[in-house]
Amino acid sequence: IVRQTMPETVQQAELERALRPLSFDDFSGQEKVLDNLKIFVQAAIERKEPLDHVLLHGPPGLGKTTLAAILANELGAHLKTTSGPVLDKPNELAGLLTNLQPGDVLFIDEIHRLNPVVEEYLYSAMEDFKIDIMLDSGPNARSVQIGLSPFTLVGATTRAGMLTTPLRARFGISCRLEYYQPSLLSTIIQRSADLLGCPISEDGALELGTRSRGTPRIANNLLRRARDFAQVLGTGTITTDVVQRTLRALEVGENGLDEMDNRILTTIVEKFAGGPVGLSTIATAVADEAETIEELYEPFLIQEGYLKRTSRGREVTEKTYRYLGVELPEKWQQ
Ligand code: ATP
Repeated sequence: IVRQTMPETVQQAELERALRPLSFDDFSGQEKVLDNLKIFVQAAIERKEPLDHVLLHGPPGLGKTTLAAILANELGAHLKTTSGPVLDKPNELAGLLTNLQPGDVLFIDEIHRLNPVVEEYLYSAMEDFKIDIMLDSGPNARSVQIGLSPFTLVGATTRAGMLTTPLRARFGISCRLEYYQPSLLSTIIQRSADLLGCPISEDGALELGTRSRGTPRIANNLLRRARDFAQVLGTGTITTDVVQRTLRALEVGENGLDEMDNRILTTIVEKFAGGPVGLSTIATAVADEAETIEELYEPFLIQEGYLKRTSRGREVTEKTYRYLGVELPEKWQQ
């Protein structure tokens, strides 16, 4: 269904590209991150130096790839894109790096999944713009040092905690992307609707924004489904009515929480009497990794007031009981 947070089909990836903002001015939200990046970019341009390496971290679909492309555009540089799992041999990395022109941006998505050998090569490339390449093997093996054009590495990760210390230390700039408020998402939805040539009412956009789990990628996916409903069953305009109908059909709840969010909350309530319960215990109960829950799910649940982090573990809130329609425990009944 439409709730996934990664683009899964070629068509979806293409549409995503079409909706991607291209400049700082097109990009909504993440003000703190953007304000800083604008300064660093301008300073680098004025000094005619490459921008320092940038690490972008945060949950999927919040705009890391988009920001990497914007950085390249704003720097007037080329963008080369790859990802941690794809880049599995040092030679592939060497090939990419030696083809970079001065000031280019190399974007490595899922940088926490780099092969450790490749990662080691990256260290000297990032630090000194040099790499050592092994020529031949056996008794003839020798290493040759190759100088690289100064470049900017933009690394993206959903799992900042999984980055090794030496890699993290080589990023001069580190930015955490946050979930978007519904009103901001409605602005993004209106912009996307314009690009898709699909009329949408202000209320309709806000309703979609409220139910997109703080995530532009989900907002754009839901917008496209609402466009289908408007086209086939309505007048072509996305009204609140159309949005509600779409979201009912896709089983998206009032608050936009997804299936895993619901599973985490239900588990804490049903199996652990609302908590406090340790993260690893929750992870075992929902059959996922503790880091995934901590980095991808928990931040949104905490932001929305469904979950609290206490010294004794994770605890749900009164809001969670009301949302799940479960009777409040005695301690909250007086
Ligand atoms: P992942 O880590 O899963 O690749 P991501 O954080 O890189 O995700 P993007 O691919 O940059 O996310 O963004 C997903 C979609 O959301 C894109 O279509 C992009 O256009 C849109 N988007 C993200 N952030 C914004 C924004 N601030 N304004 C407008 N559109 C946005």
